[in-house]
Amino acid sequence: MVGHASMQGTLACERAWVTIDLNALASNIRQLKQQILPQTALMAVVKADGYGHGAVTVARTALEHGATWLGVATIIEGIELRQANIDAPILVLGATHTVQEIEAIVRWQLQPTLCSPEQALTFSRHLQHALPVHLMIDTGMSRLGPIWQQGATFIEFVHRLPHLTIASIYSHLATADHADTSFMLQQQSRLQEVLSRLQTQDFPLPKLHLANSAGMLSGPQFHYDLVRVGLALYGLYPSSQFQNKIHLQPVMQVKARVTQVKTLPAGSGVSYNHTFTTDQPSIVAVVGIGYADGVPRLLSNQMKVIIRGRLVPQIGAITMDQLMVDVSSIPDLQVGEMVTLLGQDGNATISAEVWAETLGTISYEVVCGFKHRLPRVLVNHGAPQR
Ligand SMILES: *Cc1c(COP(=O)(O)O)cnc(C)c1O
Repeated sequence: MVGHASMQGTLACERAWVTIDLNALASNIRQLKQQILPQTALMAVVKADGYGHGAVTVARTALEHGATWLGVATIIEGIELRQANIDAPILVLGATHTVQEIEAIVRWQLQPTLCSPEQALTFSRHLQHALPVHLMIDTGMSRLGPIWQQGATFIEFVHRLPHLTIASIYSHLATADHADTSFMLQQQSRLQEVLSRLQTQDFPLPKLHLANSAGMLSGPQFHYDLVRVGLALYGLYPSSQFQNKIHLQPVMQVKARVTQVKTLPAGSGVSYNHTFTTDQPSIVAVVGIGYADGVPRLLSNQMKVIIRGRLVPQIGAITMDQLMVDVSSIPDLQVGEMVTLLGQDGNATISAEVWAETLGTISYEVVCGFKHRLPRVLVNHGAPQR
């Protein structure tokens, strides 16, 4: 299960924690399923520990609600799922090359991405039995895979090698979250062209896939045989333009507790290097969460938290394990009261998108940033699961 599982119910919610709302996750998956045709498979992308949500938890919930494939970035991530007795097909999206990696792929029944002729040769030489493989073609992402002009040659090369069974051909979109769809359409037509060059020889066409969350939400013409959905599972939108297409609920919240409350006189410098100074007598609360938990230090003096349903400003440098907030607006705040850093409390909400905007990054990086020091606590709409 999730990290620190044995401590759930005892120490998990004492200092700081991440809640994972399984109902929200299930609802997101059902919404996504409704947008794809019955013959299109849903791959739940659970790399990076399920975008920080806990890969095993997310994978199990996704499979229960209609996903039939799992996507991971690394072999070790795939093994973690297998060790949790998950037996769905698992595609390793990252590149793998060494003999040790090939042996682990076979042993744990993972399915590799092949992205170059040299790598395909290494696999073919070291395999004793047929292995399903997935061929990545670079149609414009300029990441893994041969460039699309060499795509057909690559596919035919792999097709002729012993022990390699081409299970799918796929590509990855670079700009699917843009309002301007022209490059996405170009990538799609490049992929089509690779395939049309193949059809000239009698070649059994394997399964085809192209769409990430943004591609999937862009319409059924991008779905093909399978969609590889990460971000949307977690209730986040790849871009605001998709907000009217589907109703997603954020799965993750980040909570902590007040550990001290005190009144400071005007003119008090707060935290390292005194980047904040009180201009009037102020009530300050110390909160037990810091940058070593994944609250970016770059948010110092730039973020708010929610206490008793009210937004209050964070002040001074965020430290490794603690941060300070100005709670002058909250009467009689007590040690132990709950602080919401991300998520909802009463009528106030703070989203990963808001942090991302302040930081000049994307919500993906925000949710992936919470460290394992924070217990992941499973909840159903707010109530801890027993
Ligand atoms: C991470 C990843 C995805 C999922 O992307 P989202 O934008 O999170 O849906 C899909 N395909 C590949 C190849 C990936 O690396």
